[in-house]
Amino acid sequence: MRSICVMNQKGGVGKTTTSVNLAAGLAKQGRRVCLIDLDPQGHSSLHLGVDAFGQTPTIYDVLSGTKTLAEVKQLAADHLWVVPSDLDLAATEVELVDTPGRELILRGAVERLIQQHPFDYIVMDCPPSLGVLTINALTTAKEVFIPLQPHFLALQGMSKLFETTALVKRRLNRDLKVSGIILCLYETATRLAADITDDLIRFLEQSDPQAPWKNAKIFDSRIRRNIKLAESPSFGQSIFDYAPKSSGAMDYAALVSEILATEMGVMSQPIPVTTPVAA
Ligand code: ADP
Ligand code: MG
Repeated sequence: MRSICVMNQKGGVGKTTTSVNLAAGLAKQGRRVCLIDLDPQGHSSLHLGVDAFGQTPTIYDVLSGTKTLAEVKQLAADHLWVVPSDLDLAATEVELVDTPGRELILRGAVERLIQQHPFDYIVMDCPPSLGVLTINALTTAKEVFIPLQPHFLALQGMSKLFETTALVKRRLNRDLKVSGIILCLYETATRLAADITDDLIRFLEQSDPQAPWKNAKIFDSRIRRNIKLAESPSFGQSIFDYAPKSSGAMDYAALVSEILATEMGVMSQPIPVTTPVAA
């Protein structure tokens, strides 16, 4: 099983869009996927048509110890489950302040979940902060994916983000590694995007060999700006269902292919970019 934390403390860089479409794309390729929404805004849940308002149990109930993930997860599509979130989760940071081991609650919950329900992928969509919710995702994950919008100041704050992964690796999760950087909202025509990619490559090359990001790969698939990606959440659909022929669907299908190609011992078939994924 692969467990992936999609993080960046900046908002609006493509975390949710990537988490949802990655999870949906992997599920369309037959992988059993559980997407855990860790953002109190609940955008991942809504994006997949799961409305977590009212009586629906959410990740908040799991972190506060009243429900298990198995009880809270909902089927959103074939092979795809979502653990929804809602605004209650915003209180978790404060409520857990005196709880010993508060950084490890999600990890325990996921360990219990996978004993009963084997998943191929757990994908965690993080909020735009480095607080206790993101730390819970980092202690649970083996891999970190960082979506990045290559624009002015894109790399600002990256060192804080990287230091956080190093701290969690040292103290709480020795297996943690930053395995991928995903360029989102990519403007193909701009020189700036290429410059930022070069800066990032240089930064990775110069890093301490022990750093969790030392072998991070900048994915070849770039997610171009595409209006269909921005429209699809309002229809409660992934890009593959909402606009399977769009450039957004092609870009995320290509990313899914790259990720499948790094599955241990399995070389996947490349997904043809001209046709929708497993329509
Ligand atoms: P985050 O979760 O990091 O805050 P989101 O994934 O919610 O970022 O993206 C921020 C906004 O940009 C959303 O309205 C989303 O629909 C839009 N968006 C994300 N990626 C793209 C893209 N490649 N093309 C066009 N719009 C995008
Ligand atoms: Mg988000």
